[in-house]
Amino acid sequence: MRTDRHRRLAGLLLVLAFLGLVGPVSRSLEERRVSIYAPQASYRVAVVERDHKEYVGLLDVLEPLGAASASNAGAEWTIRGSGGEARFTEGKTNGKVRGNKVELAAPLLVENGRPLVPLRSLATLLSRFLDTRVDVHDSSRRVFIGNVGARFTTELKKGEPPALVLNFSMPVSPSISTEGGKLKMVFTRDPVVSATENFSFDDKTISALRYDESSGAAELTVSGSAPLLASFSNGGRTISVSVAPAQAALAQAAPPGAPGVTATPAPGAAAAPPGQGKTGPAEFPRSRYLVIVDASHGGEERGADLGKGIAEKDVTLAFARRIRAELQNRGITTVMVRDADTALALQQRAEMANAAHAAIFLTIHAGTMGSGVRVYSSMLPPSAEASAVFLPWETAQARYVDSSHALADGITLQLGRRRVPAESLEAPVRPLNNIAAVAIAIEVNAPAANPRAFHSPNFQLTVASAVAEAVLAARTRLEAAR
Ligand SMILES: [Zn+2]
Repeated sequence: MRTDRHRRLAGLLLVLAFLGLVGPVSRSLEERRVSIYAPQASYRVAVVERDHKEYVGLLDVLEPLGAASASNAGAEWTIRGSGGEARFTEGKTNGKVRGNKVELAAPLLVENGRPLVPLRSLATLLSRFLDTRVDVHDSSRRVFIGNVGARFTTELKKGEPPALVLNFSMPVSPSISTEGGKLKMVFTRDPVVSATENFSFDDKTISALRYDESSGAAELTVSGSAPLLASFSNGGRTISVSVAPAQAALAQAAPPGAPGVTATPAPGAAAAPPGQGKTGPAEFPRSRYLVIVDASHGGEERGADLGKGIAEKDVTLAFARRIRAELQNRGITTVMVRDADTALALQQRAEMANAAHAAIFLTIHAGTMGSGVRVYSSMLPPSAEASAVFLPWETAQARYVDSSHALADGITLQLGRRRVPAESLEAPVRPLNNIAAVAIAIEVNAPAANPRAFHSPNFQLTVASAVAEAVLAARTRLEAAR
């Protein structure tokens, strides 16, 4: 039984990786930006083109490094910051930084009362202004101020499955996407650097790692012979990449044919009959009403300490499993993002939901903020852009936000009927904004603020049945809308 199920899981993962082709970021909407890494902040600044030259706002660059201001008397501009003072003249290339002459690569421009300087001159300006070392990677638009830089080591751990372990000198948070046997990590906020571009490994499943820089980011691409999965540990300093093991990620929940359980692929869907044991896209349950349940946190990322030694990651998994069971009891196909104690990045969770074309994404949290349940939906303003195939990653939720609010209200109503105090709120809970489906976060707090209640099957069941009833009630409306 177990083997069959694992094969099915592998099939599902394969499809998800395959669908990863539909990446979260629409390239055409990507702005040109320079990434700036300093000990006190990492940030990106928009690059604009004027007279066929790239410019950046000098205050945009200086402000995150400490208070900065610009004032002018006619065309004469004075820029003051924590580092010192610079003087330039609008339309001229010559100026002074901390009393020393500098020559800009192109004339100073002023727009909306803010001075623009040529990107090519940024390194010189910053190193003089801040009196520190500044390295610029021109072609990739990355600026390193002072002694910043996240280096990494690689180690291929043989085992079942083998894993490529990357240890970074500081915590990192790449966005991750997969395509076939390639897993790409894009580091925009992290000053990841490498002297080596191509790493190769003596392994059949994970053969190579490539380091690239472009568009204000560093990229690491792992090549494997099968779909790969990344997991984080060591406080974000370690990333392990391995062939997606079934238990590590998506678990297709419904063992088809189990008593009292009905998986419900839509008519004409490509779901294979149970027990066929074949892997591949055919086994993906293309239900039009697929619910993804995400137990937040996991692995070394324990979430909140809920008291009495109870970690949030375990409580979220327990509630997620209850919710899955209640949904399946109502004939709703349900998939867990994790069905084990696994660390997963928020981006991966969102990408899984999007790749699976889920109808509903429920992410579960637990907390110690009083008692009762808070149901969160996105704060994004609704958008009616209906036919977009590629949705902007940061606002993927906008098309669904009205339905998300409605589902949050529905769950709150159902909880109230079961005498569980509940409220529906709008808040920037990650990764809701990145989900192209109805998406809500459910934060469970223990009754009477007693953490032991998190373990109560009765309490778990009450919350789970309320959620499942509301999801069922939303089904008719959502299916009509899809
Ligand atoms: Zn949490």
